[in-house]
Amino acid sequence: PEPAASQAVPQAGDPALVLLRRIGVVDPSSLDDYRAHGGYSALRRAFALGPAGVIREVLDAGLVGRGGAAFPTGRKWDATARQPERTHYLVCNADESEPGTFKDRVLMEGDPYALVEAMTIAGYAVGAHRGFLYLRGEYPRALHRLEHAIGQARARGLLGPDVLGQGYAFDIEIRRGAGAYICGEETAIFNSIEGRRGEPRSKPPFPVEKGLFDKPTAVNNVETLVNVLPILEHGAAAYAATGTGNSTGTKLFCVSGSVRAPGIYELPFGATLRELLDLAGGAPQGRTLRAVLLGGAAGGFVRPDELDIPLTFEGTREAGATLGSGVILALDETVELPRILLRIAEFFRDESCGQCVPCRVGTVRQEEALHRITDRTGDAAAADIALLREVGRAMRDASICGLGQTAWNAVESAIDRLGAYK
Ligand code: NAD
Ligand code: SF4
Repeated sequence: PEPAASQAVPQAGDPALVLLRRIGVVDPSSLDDYRAHGGYSALRRAFALGPAGVIREVLDAGLVGRGGAAFPTGRKWDATARQPERTHYLVCNADESEPGTFKDRVLMEGDPYALVEAMTIAGYAVGAHRGFLYLRGEYPRALHRLEHAIGQARARGLLGPDVLGQGYAFDIEIRRGAGAYICGEETAIFNSIEGRRGEPRSKPPFPVEKGLFDKPTAVNNVETLVNVLPILEHGAAAYAATGTGNSTGTKLFCVSGSVRAPGIYELPFGATLRELLDLAGGAPQGRTLRAVLLGGAAGGFVRPDELDIPLTFEGTREAGATLGSGVILALDETVELPRILLRIAEFFRDESCGQCVPCRVGTVRQEEALHRITDRTGDAAAADIALLREVGRAMRDASICGLGQTAWNAVESAIDRLGAYK
């Protein structure tokens, strides 16, 4: 069956949609239908602009990464393109594994040619002739649709030795993850593609300089890449007119938990959390919202009295949370917060690759302390909360990668902002 995520897209066909505009409208198996719905006009414009012109447009549009870290995409592409080595690579991070994140899945299943076109543009801009699409292993439908789309594009000269007769060679290879959350970390992806253990590498050097096979590599999330199409189709100024100064364009939000209509919602940056939750129907009848987890397991909690925060990278940061990859998990009064926190701690302990001590040991200590304090409150819990803070600080300051650095975020946020364990 079609996944619930795709069925739950609430506004398919709405003219205000940018990234979701073809979802549920275009036939994902048909290159002709994709072209009939505007497909491949962005690639034509890219060839007219040249690689430097494409990067200029992306910089002027203010596009920032949608994987969660919001790094400026144009800067990443420019830095990759400038490296003197002959071989450059493009990697699309489609290992979407953040708990509560399912936006890239909807894009890949519903509009696979858009990703193929966007990867071709990105490859052209950064001087890459090979692109790797690192796909979450648990997404078999996305795999089949992307394999089909890549094959059709190749057969019609839209991939291969001479893309659109423009003398540019580019092709895409799909590599599947095998269920490890850590393999979504960009340098762990390189190791995985190279046939090594999927463990993160220390940064710097950043991938733009030394990435896949030690060559300059641009790594971009699926949603980030798909944003390049409207930028080239309508121009940077038109794109940047939507959203806010530092968060331009629209964002896909993955709404789940205690709402009447969970699913993917596309809104301009700057819409408020309240507006988004209202669109999703609010809490089910008889339930009361208790908190919203933003940014997933590595994110932070927002209270019901804070729902007017703007959904932008800067706005959520100021509110002590993070937009991350767009997770909006609504919790009502029936949810036992300590159980949620324990589940998050178990997840990080389980998914830590174990390479560095602060994370390998810290995630175990965090889970142990949470187990101890789950049934206790007040003074009995105070010593373990102090221990959690100490362990959390060590993980944040001394871990190699984002997993360890953020493994204590949600627990800290629940203690400080929701008064957990009081
Ligand atoms: P990061 O801040 O280290 O880097 C972000 C990107 O910018 C990377 O591509 C990095 O190479 C690049 N970069 C940073 N500084 C640079 C510089 N000086 N020069 C050139 N490039 C530079 O973040 P990260 O560890 O890659 O990602 C963390 C984010 O991933 C978190 O925000 C989290 O929300 C998100 N995440 C998403 C998922 C998902 O399923 N989408 C899963 C886990 C984590
Ligand atoms: Fe592995 Fe954790 Fe260290 Fe990241 S922080 S490299 S997941 S042990």
